Amino acid sequence: MSAPYKESPNAALARLRAELAAQLKQLNRPESSVTLIGVSKTVPAERIELALAAGLRVFGENRIEEAGAKWPALKAAYNDIELHFIGALQSKKAAQAVALCDAIHSLDRPRLARALAHEMQAQNRHPQLFIQVNTGSEPQKAGVLPKDAPSFIEACRKDYGLKIDGLMCLPPIDEPPAAHFALLQKLARDNDIRLLSMGMSRDYAIALRFGATHIRLGTALFGRRPQAKPSI
Ligand SMILES: *Cc1c(COP(=O)(O)O)cnc(C)c1O
Repeated sequence: MSAPYKESPNAALARLRAELAAQLKQLNRPESSVTLIGVSKTVPAERIELALAAGLRVFGENRIEEAGAKWPALKAAYNDIELHFIGALQSKKAAQAVALCDAIHSLDRPRLARALAHEMQAQNRHPQLFIQVNTGSEPQKAGVLPKDAPSFIEACRKDYGLKIDGLMCLPPIDEPPAAHFALLQKLARDNDIRLLSMGMSRDYAIALRFGATHIRLGTALFGRRPQAKPSI
């Protein structure tokens, strides 16, 4: 095996920002219309520090324990960090997620909606909420099924009083992603939802064409993760 990292996060960030700017220009979209989330799961602290030094302030984590171990100190040191939770969230961890995170991308069931609503009120903290949609209807994957999305969005709004800011998807690994991004974009339009969290290292350029507002980049920014777990 060769050296684990070919590129430093600061060099990668500069390259990705330039690529992103060029792609947005082609699409006639302003640069401010897209948030680059640096997915820092499993990334060692010194590499996160390099990204912070290069000016990145928006990060994503997929496990609440790991986020809780890494981010409170960094959030105290840099007061403008935005932490996005992008992994499966157990209802019993809603309190920690609301306390620590500025956005949650994985709302996908009534029980979690209820727990988040309760905690948001109790803590008077209001992270942005994205509903995760299982656009490929994959049995092992989290997210509400596309056919159930409209009624779930409605329930979040009416029954739990939640403001739904966005939709999120993770297309099936073995399919071209465009149809999935198009479906998520349509669901957002039809349900009056503004933000779209879609696109990862390998497919973010395609997601931008379908209106992605939040792209989640791990490998492209930080290099290959040491023990990549399948993210579901
Ligand atoms: C790990 C992860 C990413 C980043 O994936 P890369 O392919 O490394 O860019 C994005 N979204 C979610 C939900 C993830 O778990």
